[in-house]
Amino acid sequence: MVQGLSRVPNPPARTTTSMVVRAHLLLSALRVPDASRKFTRRIVERQLLGRRSVDMNIHEYQGKELFRSAGVKVQEGVHCKTVEDALAAYDSLGSKVVAVKSQIHAGGRGKGNLYCPNSGDLLMEGGVKIAFSRDEVETYSENILGHILVTKQTGPAGKLVSNIYVEAGCEIAHEYYLALLVDREAKQVLIMASTEGGMDIEEVAEETPEAIHKIWVNPSTGLLDSQKEDLGISLDLSGAALEDFVGMIGSLYDLFVSNDCSMVEINPLVRTKSDEIVALDAKVGFDENASFRHKEWEDLRDYSEEEPTETRANEAGLSYVKLDGDIGCLVNGAGLAMATMDVIKLYGGEPANFLDIGGGADEAKVQEAFEIILEDPNVKGILVNIFGGIQRCDIVAKAVLAASEKMGLQVPLVIRLSGTMFEEGRAIIDASDLDCTSVETLAEGAEAIVGLIGGGQ
Ligand code: ADP
Ligand code: MG
Repeated sequence: MVQGLSRVPNPPARTTTSMVVRAHLLLSALRVPDASRKFTRRIVERQLLGRRSVDMNIHEYQGKELFRSAGVKVQEGVHCKTVEDALAAYDSLGSKVVAVKSQIHAGGRGKGNLYCPNSGDLLMEGGVKIAFSRDEVETYSENILGHILVTKQTGPAGKLVSNIYVEAGCEIAHEYYLALLVDREAKQVLIMASTEGGMDIEEVAEETPEAIHKIWVNPSTGLLDSQKEDLGISLDLSGAALEDFVGMIGSLYDLFVSNDCSMVEINPLVRTKSDEIVALDAKVGFDENASFRHKEWEDLRDYSEEEPTETRANEAGLSYVKLDGDIGCLVNGAGLAMATMDVIKLYGGEPANFLDIGGGADEAKVQEAFEIILEDPNVKGILVNIFGGIQRCDIVAKAVLAASEKMGLQVPLVIRLSGTMFEEGRAIIDASDLDCTSVETLAEGAEAIVGLIGGGQ
């Protein structure tokens, strides 16, 4: 069906394009564009980026608020946005030792570094600091707020920190790892626990997989008392600590289910010197598919943590996912978008985005899509690949022209128009001053754009 693909000998088998197409068609037929976009995004993220799912993440301080109300023990703490807030928090907590914790939607903060956003100078090592005095609280919060935290999970660009959490210090006897997630294959909630807390769980899984204990919870029975106890015993807990753990894991499982979580990770969960079990970290993700029954999530959402272009594209009704490459793609249909990305890779290029304008997009929507691509500073070249069915190629041609005129086109552009009104579309492009390469097939298009930006093998 897709012209041009027949010329490609062995398309990479990494993506399940047919599944995406089927799901996309089914969902569009049901006229649920939002669900369709979310589904497409989920597939793209899973297949191409290796991300587990599109969760809605919240900050540690928000996760701990949920824990507190569910009966999972946490330290006293205060969410702060300014240095003054942090000092007032220190005074009100009445604890001589406090933890000053950067709040971003990424882990590894403790081992991260803080940089000045203007000069790029290193300001402080560690995004989670233990303060032993009021002065230290002041220094640490000054070094954190308004600065860029780079951790193993943020990528080199890091994240601007606008929130901190000042928490009472905890006397730690031992750090454990605990996570609840949805095992989709088993159709059950999986609980993972390890005595090797506080460190990178991926490392533990690689080096000492036997140190990770797993239990699956049958949804019809819920978490059994025997399972709670077995898990606690596997962590070498006994006496009051075991009792505390058993109560905590029951509350946490209930929280997980009633909040439609996709993941809860506590690293570290600690045993204190007084044998209490306390969650010292909280990473909570909700399953976006359940957002319709959780209006309260809107207040927990932090838009500054989300990719701004993705939010803008979402509002315009486009399926857009930013990727790490340098070839911008404007495509209609999720299946064709996936195929386009595969063929670009086949010719040695890397896509800068996944972008599906959908079927029957009007000129304004296509123009918005093209502007989003043009605004991306990583884009070194653009491939427009339209296989018009419902989508008219002349509308795409006009929108591409309008956007290029408005924004100025600084990079090579390759256009492949095929299907409904492609002759009219090509005539519009040919009659214009637009500097671009017109091709007939996807394979030619991918080869051309990779060649034009000087990439490929
Ligand atoms: P991240 O996982 O992003 O590095 P954590 O919340 O796990 O952030 O904090 C890093 C480390 O800091 C923890 O492993 C723990 O040892 C220590 N820590 C965190 N909060 C406290 C606290 N309230 N009191 C004492 N130590 C803490
Ligand atoms: Mg942690």
